[in-house]
Amino acid sequence: MPFVEKTPDTTSNPLTQFINNLGASQGRNTINAEDCLAQASEVSGLYIHIPFCFHKCHYCDFYSIVGDENQQTKFVERLVSEFAAVAPYITQPIETIFIGGGTPTLIEQNLLSKMLGAIATHFTLAQDYEWTIEANPETLTPDVSTRLAEGGINRVSIGAQSFDIDCLKTLERWHTPGSVAKSMQHVRNAGIENVNLDLIFGIPNQTMEVFRNDIKQTVDLSPEHISAYALTYEPNTPLYVREQRGDLQKIDEDLESRMFQETMTILEAHGYEQYEISNYAKPNRSCKHNLMYWNNKSWWPCGPAAAGHISGRRWRNVPKLSQYLTGFGLPSIEDVETLSENGQAGEALMLGLRLRDGIQSDRVDQLLQVKGGQWRRKVIEEHIQQGNLDFASSLRLTSKGLMVADSIIGDLLMDETSMVDTTMQDPNAKK
Ligand code: SF4
Repeated sequence: MPFVEKTPDTTSNPLTQFINNLGASQGRNTINAEDCLAQASEVSGLYIHIPFCFHKCHYCDFYSIVGDENQQTKFVERLVSEFAAVAPYITQPIETIFIGGGTPTLIEQNLLSKMLGAIATHFTLAQDYEWTIEANPETLTPDVSTRLAEGGINRVSIGAQSFDIDCLKTLERWHTPGSVAKSMQHVRNAGIENVNLDLIFGIPNQTMEVFRNDIKQTVDLSPEHISAYALTYEPNTPLYVREQRGDLQKIDEDLESRMFQETMTILEAHGYEQYEISNYAKPNRSCKHNLMYWNNKSWWPCGPAAAGHISGRRWRNVPKLSQYLTGFGLPSIEDVETLSENGQAGEALMLGLRLRDGIQSDRVDQLLQVKGGQWRRKVIEEHIQQGNLDFASSLRLTSKGLMVADSIIGDLLMDETSMVDTTMQDPNAKK
C-alpha cells in the first residue's frame, strides 16, 4: 500500500512539538549539518524520530507515515549510519535519550533491537542516563517490552490520552482503554520501572465527570510521571476540519480551565509534583529529557523531521522520509535559525517560566541585561503587580499566573523581529 506522507511539523509528544516549533516563524538560513557538528561537544541529549504509525489520529499534525512497513529496514539502516556519523563529535556522555515519533514501538522487533544496540554502541551514555521511548499501548506486548529493557531503555512514555471510549473515538485513537493497564504491566514485568502516561483534556463532549474518571484511572495505575495537555486544534488536521465544518464543538473555555485546575488538585493530592505547567512527577521522577528542553540545553536530533538545538542555534533534519532515505550519514538540514543574544534571553525566559521552580534571580538579572532586552523588566514588573509572577529567589508563575501562562510568555517575546541574528546568516543561502 502506498504510504501517506505528510509534511511535518513534529512528533507525537506535545512538548517535543512545542520545542520543535520554537522560532519556526523567524528568520532562516541554510547551512550544512557539518557546521552544527562543530559545536557538538555541547550536546548531552539525543532526540531520535521514528516516523511510522498504524493510523493517523485526528488531532495529530506530527510527522508520521501510515502503511509503509516495507521502508522500516531501509530506515533503520539509514538511521544507524546517522548515529555513526554524529557520535564521534559528541564528546560528553549522553545523559538523556528520547525516542519519539510516530510510534517507535511499531518497528519490527529485530529492527527495534538493532536500532537500540546501535545507539548503545555508538554513543557513550552517562552512568545515570535516562532513555525514554514513546509507545502506543497496543504495541507494548511482553516481547516488545523485553526487547526495550534488554536494549537499555529505562523509561516508557505511553499515549493513554483518555480512558473513555467515546473520547478515544473522537480523537481517532486506535487503542482501547483497557490496553493501557496491560501495557504498563508488560513494561513493569520486563523490569522497566519508570513509566509516563500522556493524557489529553478538553476533548469535545468530555464532561468534568468523564475527565475526573480519566485522572482517577491514571492515578490508580500509579505511573511515575503524568503529562496532561489540553487538546489543540492544529490547522490541516481532520479534527480541525471537523470543528470548522461544525461536526464537533470545542468545549467551553471555562470548563477546560477547570479541568486544568482539577488535574493540579487531584495529582497533587496523590503525591505528584507539578514541576512544569503540563508535567507531574512522583519524587525524583521528573523527566530529565523534558528538563533539558526547559533549561534550554543542547541536544542532537536524528531521523527525519527531528529538531535540534545547540547554544542558540536551532534546526531540523529534512522532513520527509523519502528525502531522508536518499542519503547516508548526516542528513540535510533546514529551518536553521541562529538566535541573537536577545533572542536567546527571550527563549530562556519563555522556557524557564514554564517550570514551577521558575528561573533563579541572578540568571533573570543576566537575561534582562542583554542588549535589546531590557524592556522585559517593565513587562515583568507589570505582571508582578497583577499577581501573575512572583520574584524572590526566583522568578516564577503564581497560581493565578499559571492560568494565563501563554499570554505572559507571549508578552516577554513581543519583539520577535530582533531575536534572530541576521549577521550570522549563511552566505550559501543566497546562492
Ligand atoms: S500515534 Fe497518533 S498522535 Fe502519535 S504520531 Fe501517530 S498519528 Fe500522531
